[in-house]
Amino acid sequence: MKNTPISIIGAGLGGLMLARVLHVHGIAATVYEGEASAAARTQGGLLDIHDFNGQLALKDAGLVEEFTALIQHGGQATRVLDREANVLFEQHDDGTGGRPEVQRGDLRRILLESLPESTVQWGRKLTQVTPLGSGQHQLHFADGSTVICGLLVGADGAWSRVRPLLSDAKPVYTGTALIEAWLHDADQRHPASAAAAGGGSMFALAPGQGILSHREPNGVVHAYIALSRSEEWLTKIDFNDAPAAKARIAAEFENWSPALTALITDSDTAPVLRLIHALPNEHRWPRIPGVTLVGDAAHLMAPSGDGANLAMYDGAELAKAIAAHPGNLDAALAAYESELFPRSAKAAAEADDVNQVLYGNHSPHSLVKMFTP
Ligand SMILES: Cc1cc2nc3c(=O)[nH]c(=O)nc-3n(C[C@H](O)[C@H](O)[C@H](O)COP(=O)(O)OP(=O)(O)OC[C@H]3O[C@@H](n4cnc5c(N)ncnc54)[C@H](O)[C@@H]3O)c2cc1C
Repeated sequence: MKNTPISIIGAGLGGLMLARVLHVHGIAATVYEGEASAAARTQGGLLDIHDFNGQLALKDAGLVEEFTALIQHGGQATRVLDREANVLFEQHDDGTGGRPEVQRGDLRRILLESLPESTVQWGRKLTQVTPLGSGQHQLHFADGSTVICGLLVGADGAWSRVRPLLSDAKPVYTGTALIEAWLHDADQRHPASAAAAGGGSMFALAPGQGILSHREPNGVVHAYIALSRSEEWLTKIDFNDAPAAKARIAAEFENWSPALTALITDSDTAPVLRLIHALPNEHRWPRIPGVTLVGDAAHLMAPSGDGANLAMYDGAELAKAIAAHPGNLDAALAAYESELFPRSAKAAAEADDVNQVLYGNHSPHSLVKMFTP
């Protein structure tokens, strides 16, 4: 097994965790990443890392100490507001919530730093894969180079180039979009909005829409504006014209508290549209020699705070299965996938339920009910 070249496509949290846990078991792998460097794109945003999946993977990776040093204390505080910014539910962070918040970029950095230097090949965008038989694949990259590998793992996210080798499934728009915005130095410059956002996560909700935020370090409030609108309606907004886009989105929140709508209108950055796509909840594939998927490539789902956790957990589980089946890659992949499929289907169904709680007809009271023991 140690002589089998393992090629991982994508240096997101799933691909890097796979490479790291393989390394812990003395198995070499190469990660091919399309972006030019680790700094090519801001990895902004806080992720809550769960004690039942993401943290278990970090333990397998031997990175608990490094992870603990990244925790943003107070970040697990949660509040639910109505559209007038009345607080309907509030929970403070006493450090026992089991889902501490860390910056995505920091988490990616500790994984990168834990790998031998040449493990990640930057600027290697996979464009095509040719099956060669007997589980071998030839990888073609945008820079004209090619590689032949004995195990190909697609950790290349929502629009995976590896997935078509295994299944015809394509992500479809869920009907809800998130629009990201950031307020800098919010306590000083936008005190009413900063006060509404609180010290952790804030959910201001109504049926079909919401203004959500995360408190980030250095006085930053990161807002996610949720709108259940058609793709056609959303793509009519010109996001290149930031003031007009902010005004158009804010118009959907007429009669909401100005402290909340200022999270859109006073944003220090141009709003970023993210149309939320998902694969079918039961997405799976027949066992095909020499290739498998981890993370969003395998089970893209509506955001419910679990996607990055699941990607890391998949990566760690696949690495452990490979280590546990020396010389029998097919058995390793079969063991990994037999647990991956039901785990992902369950998480995807739960993500649908969470999104119904957030944006369904009984919002925001449905979320208060979910949070209340
Ligand atoms: C708005 C939003 C908010 C979210 N919030 C949370 C949250 O709070 N908590 C949480 O757990 N999850 C959250 N998620 C989900 C989470 O971001 C994903 O589930 C997670 O990033 C998946 O990790 P991954 O490694 O599978 O894929 P990715 O993080 O997408 O990484 C894929 C990597 O592959 C590379 N790549 C892609 N194509 C190629 C190619 N052809 N060749 C080479 N490289 C390629 C990409 O550049 C990228 O580096 C959120 C998602 C969204 C959209």
